[in-house]
Amino acid sequence: EIQNVINDASSAAFERAQALLPGGVNSPVRAFRGVGGVPRFIDRGAGAYLYDIDGNQYIDYVLSWGPLILGHAYPAVVEAICAQAQRGTSFGAPTELESELAELVIAAVPSVEMVRFVSSGTEATMSAIRLARAYTQREKIIKFEGCYHGHADPFLVQAGSGVATLGLPDSPGVLKSATSNTLTAPFNDLDAVEALFKANAGQVAALVIEPVAGNMGFVLPREGYLVGLRQLCDQHGALLIFDEVMTGFRVAYGGAQAYFNVMPDLTCLGKVVGGGLPAAAYGGRREIMQMVAPAGNMYQAGTLSGNPLAMVAGIQTLREIAKPEVFERLTGVTSTLCQGFWKAAFKNSIPFQAHKAGSMWGFFFAGDEVYDFTSAKRADTVMFGKFFHAMLEQGVYLAPSQFEAAFVSTAHSDELVAQTIKAAQAAFASIR
Ligand code: PLP
Repeated sequence: EIQNVINDASSAAFERAQALLPGGVNSPVRAFRGVGGVPRFIDRGAGAYLYDIDGNQYIDYVLSWGPLILGHAYPAVVEAICAQAQRGTSFGAPTELESELAELVIAAVPSVEMVRFVSSGTEATMSAIRLARAYTQREKIIKFEGCYHGHADPFLVQAGSGVATLGLPDSPGVLKSATSNTLTAPFNDLDAVEALFKANAGQVAALVIEPVAGNMGFVLPREGYLVGLRQLCDQHGALLIFDEVMTGFRVAYGGAQAYFNVMPDLTCLGKVVGGGLPAAAYGGRREIMQMVAPAGNMYQAGTLSGNPLAMVAGIQTLREIAKPEVFERLTGVTSTLCQGFWKAAFKNSIPFQAHKAGSMWGFFFAGDEVYDFTSAKRADTVMFGKFFHAMLEQGVYLAPSQFEAAFVSTAHSDELVAQTIKAAQAAFASIR
């Protein structure tokens, strides 16, 4: 029996926030526009659980959109942050912590030889294309429909995530001149990329991709696709940039490049690398990274870059998940969830599919294979919304949009996973 939860406090908080913050939020998808209803205002998190200000408890599969691979308020991470806070929160001068996290990143991510820390995924991707343009002395970039690389101007073309959820056109305020060098191709279509390279011979600086897409919903690359992109970049003298902000330390400890054994020239990281605090990074081959100022002359900087609180949160997080048994468990839990959801939908004759890579997963209310943005947009968002609310009311917090991925943490026990699948069974039965 699915119960309605009480959300009086969240409703009041949302009312208040809407008068103060555009849409009541500081990042669009949080407002529940994709699914309707009142966004839950959060009081606290602990392990796999979120607690809202009405006292409702949820098993959390959003995990702050990916970073919290150890769950909420993981003791070793909290202790490290508190200890560092006592010693100062920001210096604007180098610390040894930055080298410590850099060593962990470089050891983990196979193609990365040097790294620069920034404070958000958006900064990582915008800096990576600046670097690629500086290195190749070319101007154009190729991105993919439905991929999201943050909100920097050159990427707001056919973007996924909140842009897709809200059904927005490429954003007003982004000058045509800022996107005129952005070429787009459908995901999983090598011929389209080859055609772009041919039509723009000698002009493409870089191809940027989410190696597993998580911002048009969860979409896997087809067999041979990433290798094919690597070859096309090599043939045409362009850099291959993997935006692993979501997939890094998620689909495998070494990211999607380790998972698929395809090496990019530059890698963007975020989310897990900051352990729930604002840190992100771009890195890659030494010869390319040496162009970044002050080693070279490509300028990029940040007041809070390499922030010590974020560095210690990242260091503790990576140390914990570097153990091989951790990823084995995360992968097993994710498989169980996907299979459980898929089976429950099938039992209720609902067109549905669920897929995963490592500890990242997702599902579509669609019977046919989803392989790109066009096929993702054919999924049934009305069914998704009903399912989302049926799950929420049973204490399971999923991303409030069909065009997002889901995550698990080490705090998601077998019992919680079983409870989640039971909730999904009831939810599918209630929306059929
Ligand atoms: N790249 C990818 C693949 C992302 O998923 C995101 C955010 O969700 C970003 C870049 C932007 O990161 P941030 O929101 O930290 O700016």
